[in-house]
Amino acid sequence: MSELNPFAIAQQQLDEAAQRLGLDAATHEFLRWPMREYHFTLPLKMDNGVTRIFKGYRVQYNCARGPTKGGLRWHPEETIDTVRALAAWMTWKTAVVDIPLGGGKGGITCNPKELTEGEKERLARTYIRAVGRELGVHRDVPAPDVYTTPQIMAWMLDEYEILVGHSHPGMITGKPLAVGGSQGRGDATARGGVYCVREAAKALNINVSRATYAIQGFGNAGQFAATLHPEILGGGTLLAASDSRGGVFSKEGIDPKALVRHKLETGSVINFPGTKPISNEELLELQVDVLYPSALEGVITSRNANNIKAKVMCELANGPTTPEADKILFQKGVYVLPDFLANAGGVTVSYFEQVQNTYNYYWSLEDVHRQLDRKMTDAYHAVWEMSKKTKAHNRLVAYMVAVSRVAEACKIRGWV
Ligand code: GLU
Repeated sequence: MSELNPFAIAQQQLDEAAQRLGLDAATHEFLRWPMREYHFTLPLKMDNGVTRIFKGYRVQYNCARGPTKGGLRWHPEETIDTVRALAAWMTWKTAVVDIPLGGGKGGITCNPKELTEGEKERLARTYIRAVGRELGVHRDVPAPDVYTTPQIMAWMLDEYEILVGHSHPGMITGKPLAVGGSQGRGDATARGGVYCVREAAKALNINVSRATYAIQGFGNAGQFAATLHPEILGGGTLLAASDSRGGVFSKEGIDPKALVRHKLETGSVINFPGTKPISNEELLELQVDVLYPSALEGVITSRNANNIKAKVMCELANGPTTPEADKILFQKGVYVLPDFLANAGGVTVSYFEQVQNTYNYYWSLEDVHRQLDRKMTDAYHAVWEMSKKTKAHNRLVAYMVAVSRVAEACKIRGWV
């Protein structure tokens, strides 16, 4: 398989961790595969009366530590292998932040940019009619991911409650506040990543308040990282940002709040006043202190890893770096905060959302931030402690922390 098949990558990463941990053969083989997966054929009546057929998936990768948990992606390039990889990464993600959940992921191969609001609502409801019986607060709990929104979560919740006939807000997270969402869920992924950067900077003795940073991918995670980085770290200069249409660069620095406004008004970062155009590839290779890959998987490979000049790379995207690139970055001394640690803030606040739904009492924003900070800081330090004992790159170290927790739960249950 090519360097870029995400599920082959996920398995290869696990293989390395299993070998380092001396995992027994059965546990290793068990953890290489999803426990369950569903494939759906979804008919959708378009606004013009024509019916189109879409492919949908849900992968429940591992539920040893709790109900499976993970987002839903609506993307034209979605395949079962992407969903499997993302579901595996969710398993390691919930384990590394030590929340009592397993890992899952779902998706529909579609281009939401070409769907009307009405079509999106019908597609969301069709998907829930297909997968609904496999979901629930004690089974499997979806959430937003690439190109899915709180509004889509609300339609899904509504369809699910029609199916089961009672209120069940914890069956999905990332909901709008009006239907049981949590304070602080919107920026949680980016916030958790910046907390990790803060801890890494302390450990590495980097003065982040004067640091430069760049953001590849200006969706939900990237936009919030742009504004939260200086807020949480007490300063910093945004040199560049990019999205699927192109990027912008200014050596004097870009005002992150104004750039977010421009993105929301025009749909892209391009043509932001006072900046020069830059490609996504050039942005990744910029001389910056902190680089946030915040778009899709497979952007840092053996082809460009040697050109990465960032001191710290905080992976807000899932799977941006291939195993070949990891080795090169490690040799070069780039300090990687691996995806399933760096972007675990999203699922952590999703878990808080479920907890609030279950006892039907809602926390203040300050409480969410405090609890999230504690979870992310503990997770970062668990990985840091392990890295002192192991000469390995951070992703492998984080895998060792997460895989040993999942393996222990599988064993205690008597599965392997
Ligand atoms: N889609 C997000 C992730 O990849 C959040 C998942 C969740 O909240 O369940 O971590």
